[in-house]
Amino acid sequence: MSVFLIGREELLPFLAAVMSKRELIAPIKRGAVSSFEKISVPADLKSLYLVGQTNYSPKRFFFEPRLLIYEYKKDSEMGNISVPKHSTKQRVIFGLRACDSNALLVCDDVLIRDGEDIYYKANRFRTLVIGFSCASPCKNGFCDAVGHGNFRQFDLLFSQKGDDFVVHTGSPRGEQFIGDFKKFFISPKGGADADESKIPAKNFCCGSKSLDKVNLNRARLKESSSKCFSCHGCSAICPTCTCFDIQDIPDHKGHGRKYRIWDSCLDPSFSTISGVCFRSAREERVEHFELHKLKFHKNRFGRHMCVGCGRCIWVCLAGIDITKNAQPDRG
Ligand code: SF4
Ligand code: SF4
Repeated sequence: MSVFLIGREELLPFLAAVMSKRELIAPIKRGAVSSFEKISVPADLKSLYLVGQTNYSPKRFFFEPRLLIYEYKKDSEMGNISVPKHSTKQRVIFGLRACDSNALLVCDDVLIRDGEDIYYKANRFRTLVIGFSCASPCKNGFCDAVGHGNFRQFDLLFSQKGDDFVVHTGSPRGEQFIGDFKKFFISPKGGADADESKIPAKNFCCGSKSLDKVNLNRARLKESSSKCFSCHGCSAICPTCTCFDIQDIPDHKGHGRKYRIWDSCLDPSFSTISGVCFRSAREERVEHFELHKLKFHKNRFGRHMCVGCGRCIWVCLAGIDITKNAQPDRG
């Protein structure tokens, strides 16, 4: 691991230089809403949002909401299938907070370690990850409480130090990237001091209680889940929900398309097989979502699926709060 410094006034020129060579994805705020966007023109960088966590995670850049798998056309006895070419362009994602960076590791568990989703894997490996340390807790976040308060992976990590940034490398790819853009980075005079050398760890706590081992509070779950609209808002906004459906959209004239689209266990159709829903009660669906996030994934992969970003709490019209339904397991 190496340590560098970059001046605050160099940040936008650095990002403009990156986007001249690679695709760049960065946090942008437009009006009241912040999200990760592909930066197409340097002027977009004026809306760069580094004050806090974005409303929307960057999941869609790795796991597309609606992905065309193939098209088919009946122009011969055997039919004719064409598979779209997906971009292989090298790209950089800048400004990931610990929750969103660790969410990629959770998605890796499901989409690379457990099986091999070729689309996700290709997106993952063509993307250099630049993290950005949080300097204060966010409103609904509880990353510390679920063990995701600190970065577990990055190629580069930017942390604010006074008016400037300390930059840590976290991989050989990150080291090489610094070399490609070396005019923007300087090595600390006389070597990094103790503060600069340390990867910043959180010195504040987002969550009020540890959710390392939990059970659900049945009474609270029953009361809150009765209000669930099954709208999927929580799954769509969650950086670690990766369930999908496969849909054929035929035009009934011999042509059609097969898509992979986001799906959600909060929707009864997700659990319906041959017309029978095996999780027909709202309480069962909310229970499954919350236990998957705070128990099942950890039992299998050793880390919580929930990274504590708090976005599902922010988005839920019914006011359902995963942290209030969960209670520490004292068993
Ligand atoms: S966002 Fe809230 S209301 Fe909508 S499905 Fe999720 S828990 Fe239910
Ligand atoms: S379950 Fe909620 S708090 Fe946890 S990672 Fe998903 S959106 Fe964030």
